[in-house]
Amino acid sequence: MTDLATLERPAGGARQAAPVEHFDVLIVGAGISGVGGAYHLTKQCPELKFVVLETYESFGGTWWMHRYPGIRSDSDLHTFGYRFKPWVGKPIATAEEIRKYMGDVIAENDLGRHIRYRHKVKRASWSSAEKLWTVEAENLATGEALRFTCNFLWMCQGYYRHSEGYTPQWPDMDKYKGRIVHPQTWPEDLDYKGKQVLVIGSGATAATVVPAMAADCAHVTVLQRSPTYFFPGRNAIEIAEQLRQLDVDETWIHEIVRRQILFNQAQFTKRCFEEPEAVTKELLGGVRAFLGPDYDIDTHFTPKYLPWRQRIAFIPDGDLFKGIASGRASMVTDEIERFTENGVLLKSGKELEADIVVTATGFNLSILGDIDFVIDGKPLDFADTVTYRGLMFTGVPNMAWVFGYFRASWTLRSDMVADFVCALLNHMKKIGKRKVTVALRPEDKGLPLKSWLDEENFNPGYMLRSMHLLPKRLDKPEWQHSQDYWSEKEEIPNTNFDDAAFVYE
Ligand SMILES: Cc1cc2nc3c(=O)[nH]c(=O)nc-3n(C[C@H](O)[C@H](O)[C@H](O)COP(=O)(O)OP(=O)(O)OC[C@H]3O[C@@H](n4cnc5c(N)ncnc54)[C@H](O)[C@@H]3O)c2cc1C
Repeated sequence: MTDLATLERPAGGARQAAPVEHFDVLIVGAGISGVGGAYHLTKQCPELKFVVLETYESFGGTWWMHRYPGIRSDSDLHTFGYRFKPWVGKPIATAEEIRKYMGDVIAENDLGRHIRYRHKVKRASWSSAEKLWTVEAENLATGEALRFTCNFLWMCQGYYRHSEGYTPQWPDMDKYKGRIVHPQTWPEDLDYKGKQVLVIGSGATAATVVPAMAADCAHVTVLQRSPTYFFPGRNAIEIAEQLRQLDVDETWIHEIVRRQILFNQAQFTKRCFEEPEAVTKELLGGVRAFLGPDYDIDTHFTPKYLPWRQRIAFIPDGDLFKGIASGRASMVTDEIERFTENGVLLKSGKELEADIVVTATGFNLSILGDIDFVIDGKPLDFADTVTYRGLMFTGVPNMAWVFGYFRASWTLRSDMVADFVCALLNHMKKIGKRKVTVALRPEDKGLPLKSWLDEENFNPGYMLRSMHLLPKRLDKPEWQHSQDYWSEKEEIPNTNFDDAAFVYE
């Protein structure tokens, strides 16, 4: 295959010659995972030619597209940052700070020349005869249909549909005279100064948007169906501050702080499963410290689930609770009966009036960037596959997928997946093979196929809504995404690529 070959356009299009560019690796997405993947390829597989295709006009993914007030991380940047680039700011960071950090990674490693913005991938078809993926994309700037071929496809497209968020449909929404906005598609012109704002939902997004808006609105009401756990604390890491005072090199500080955070998180997760009541008491105590003894914590901040069954948002300096304590924001725990002209009518009979309704109601899961996948002419249904460690799939050759952690920072896993992909590509080069597929071994066959997630262990709404679309797992560590950083950090780097689960041609 030459770098610039010529193929015909797909059936249905005009039969005109379209240039086809070939790459060894094609990365979809220039978010934290795709930019990290590009970095690791340049370091670990320097001879490979690769490209990153990105729909948006800039890098950052989640941190580029979300524009709602206060947008920030909900986990610390020492572990959300890459392992190879020290984070020197406060642990909870704004989207702008995260983009600046990513921009530095791109500039310092000359990654920009590999990234093509405004390139939306639409279709990926694998040919076993050619041992190649053909990737069809659109250049959104020109409308041009483009074709690429690649040996290996690295999916860094994130886990939710970027074009629109999830908004439940309530009766009479069309009768409401105010404005309804979703944080994922925040309108630039939204003026909320002096307005009554109703935020529906109480997850990490609501916890961010509420304190950010509270100072300017007349009042923000948070309407939740059920409460969420929060973890208020100082937006600083003591050991990092101490080490900086001692003039310790930032590379060391990054590593030490990462180790401390991960150690503390492991202890915390263990305690959530071993002594959930004690952890619940501590979490609620943290909230009470801001809201005082008379606040109705039972109704508004005591979840029905056990801690860590859903992600726990860190609330820097307790800003959400300070907003509530000051009276600028308030909580309502109830359900919507229907919308009215002026707001919402609750099942309790109470009406909440609002000029603006913010639906902080979450995502629509998008399994693989809404791309049509075809394997040897047959459309692929990912629900028919079994996952190898949540990063490859049976019957899908030469493709890896990045899906991070729920209980730890996403990037811990994207760095690890990058090592896995680079090691696999280097192994294939060494043994002279161009195709690899993961396949169930004789000892795996016949084991019950389970849904992607153990719902007892972790159960956020966006995952439960989409479980039928996701690949299956087996009750074995190698055939599931265990969501356990501590076991994966030993297992994934020690993958035996000669194992029978890897079939090479
Ligand atoms: C508001 C918010 C806050 C979060 N905070 C945290 C946090 O603090 N800690 C944490 O661990 N996780 C957090 N997450 C989860 C977060 O999404 C991930 O941690 C991480 O940013 C995902 O990075 P990514 O690169 O894998 O995907 P994304 O950031 O989603 O980027 C994927 C990129 O792929 C591109 N893409 C998708 N499909 C295509 C296509 N077909 N063609 C071309 N390009 C495509 C998209 O345009 C996008 O730029 C948060 C999520 C949200 C929404």
